[in-house]
Amino acid sequence: MKVTKADALGTCFGVQEAIELVLGADDNIRSDQTILGELVHNPQTVALLEKAGVRIAKDLDDNITTSRIVISAHGAADYVKQKALKRGFTVIDASCPLVMRVHRTIKDFVKKGYFPVVIGQANHVEVRGIVGDLKAYAVISTAEETELLKQYPRIGIVSQTTQPIEHVEHLVSLIKMQNHTDVLFVDTVCKPTKERQTAVHKLAAQVDAMIVIGGHNSSNTKKLKVVCEKKGIKAYHVACADEVNPAWFKGVNHVGITAGTSTPADVIEDVYQYLLTL
Ligand code: SF4
Repeated sequence: MKVTKADALGTCFGVQEAIELVLGADDNIRSDQTILGELVHNPQTVALLEKAGVRIAKDLDDNITTSRIVISAHGAADYVKQKALKRGFTVIDASCPLVMRVHRTIKDFVKKGYFPVVIGQANHVEVRGIVGDLKAYAVISTAEETELLKQYPRIGIVSQTTQPIEHVEHLVSLIKMQNHTDVLFVDTVCKPTKERQTAVHKLAAQVDAMIVIGGHNSSNTKKLKVVCEKKGIKAYHVACADEVNPAWFKGVNHVGITAGTSTPADVIEDVYQYLLTL
């Protein structure tokens, strides 16, 4: 069976830099860090961090025993960082600069009098950070939800960084067809996400099936799988090589591999090597 990796896949620079920031700390500091939420949505990376003594807390109200709080690559609202400082923690900010660009853009919309809208998943940690300091906003993810925006004359739209760009552009076009005085849209889907989406489109046209590698709670990994399914090929989401089922490949001559933006290179390589043995 032929196995081909997508031209762009796996860990993006934002996630990589966040991991290096946490794991690269001096020995005495490394185990004095608590990450708020998962630094990345990947089980192997989370296990690696825990092994290094780094702790993970759901939020500031968890029982945090370290003196340092790490804000994850997904970012956090300013009020969360301020709250951590007020409670006496040292705040280490591993927010990806491309997520921070979304924070700045949406706050700028509000300053200019636009109603802020995020295209993305309301319960995703990145989106909670983007809207966390705003008094009024909307988070939408479907065509039906664009209907809720008709009442606002001026609208400013950004997107979660890992949304499929076609989906974002489709919702923006629906909003623009409504009767608003003005609609501003800033494309904040990040470059690494776009590169992975373009690469998966290209590879899906050449293979019989696709293995999509990433944490089962990774939003962008799930979306890569959807892209493959829309292209009419079978796609299987696995977190590691152990989850690959050889029975999936009966009659498959060519399988492709893609991976979400928080999947480490060694996990991808394990799956690749395993598939070559089938
Ligand atoms: S997916 Fe994009 S925005 Fe998110 S951490 Fe990676 S580079 Fe940054």
